[in-house]
Amino acid sequence: MDPVWLLILLPVATASGWVMAVRDKNSKSTVTKVSSTKVPDSFYRGLNLLLNEQPDRALDVFLDAAEIDQDTAEMHVALGNLFRRRGEIERATQIHQNLIARPDLTPTLRALALYELAQDYFKAGLFDRAEGLLQELRQVSEYNEQACRFLLQIYDQEKEWHSAIVVAEELAALTDQDFGEPLAQYCCELAELAISEGKAGKAEYYLDSALKYVEHCTRAIMISGRVAAARGNHRTAISEWMRLEEVAPDSLGEVVGLISESYAALDDEHSFREFLERSIEVCPDSRIISALVEFTRDSKGKVAGQQLLIDIVKKRSNLAGLYQLLRNRNAPEFLRGESIDLELIIALLSESGSQSREYQCRQCGFNSNALHWQCPGCKEWGSVQKRTIAREQIQPKSLSSRLNIPA
Ligand SMILES: [Zn+2]
Repeated sequence: MDPVWLLILLPVATASGWVMAVRDKNSKSTVTKVSSTKVPDSFYRGLNLLLNEQPDRALDVFLDAAEIDQDTAEMHVALGNLFRRRGEIERATQIHQNLIARPDLTPTLRALALYELAQDYFKAGLFDRAEGLLQELRQVSEYNEQACRFLLQIYDQEKEWHSAIVVAEELAALTDQDFGEPLAQYCCELAELAISEGKAGKAEYYLDSALKYVEHCTRAIMISGRVAAARGNHRTAISEWMRLEEVAPDSLGEVVGLISESYAALDDEHSFREFLERSIEVCPDSRIISALVEFTRDSKGKVAGQQLLIDIVKKRSNLAGLYQLLRNRNAPEFLRGESIDLELIIALLSESGSQSREYQCRQCGFNSNALHWQCPGCKEWGSVQKRTIAREQIQPKSLSSRLNIPA
């Protein structure tokens, strides 16, 4: 016998005047009642069967109970919850369904049972059924917010972005909480879908919506540039991405490849170099370092490229990007030349702890090598950010000296 039954049900059973639900007066729940109602015999029979490890027979007793009044109804709700918490979803569902079928249930208790049943369905993966109940509960003022939060979880998980937007907007109106970030991200998801369908105009509409929810939404800015570039408007695309220099410089590495392509389409190498030189000051990302070194090698030759790399090693406090670059199999071959001891650079950077993953969720601490718009750990939107490494962790002086680079 799981002692949880004893702990939770026995005190209820042994009380002659028993409290069905002691709840805070401010709670949204229903019954705060001390009753002198006699405990039904069926309750004792059911409890006895539970204690004797016969949950199926106990369940039958509870389901067949002739009398379910307001007091015993809450007890059934609690029993169903216990089954659900123990992972016995089918039994929980039966208890709650049985309760809802009772014609004499008060509207408040019915709403409570519906909410519990929605949780049973959710746990069983029956999202459509849970959604149906929650849509009904959404109309009940006491459960409006709870139902909306639950629905948002389902729509988010099921990638039903239009429905998620409707519910998140309702929650924003109902509460003081800011739902701007998830709303903007839902719009970005819709924009991505529109792009995959070749509907650039529709994508732009969703991106405008995203930027109304979050004025400087990084993702919306990135996608806006992509849409403009796909239309052949490379100047517009670049000016979109350049907005990131102001509002989200850490994310410039994400778009440097796209910016490179657009400048190439415009045959404007000079502006591209200027962009890289500006960006590396605010975002020493491996992709920006790589692009600048490659650009220098191509335009000024191998020696100039190597010298630039040495300069970067000397000057940059954040060398995590360089570490990634050197580990990258696609790094330019000249970077593996003998004039720079790349193995030593890698070893030193490893020692300094810069191997740590580049992205981290500010909400739950989830680490990742790639940018996620929704954290895979805590499911928060827009919480994964690029890490920055403190200057003292890298010890550039020691690095320079071991590389024989003049200070
Ligand atoms: Zn997280």
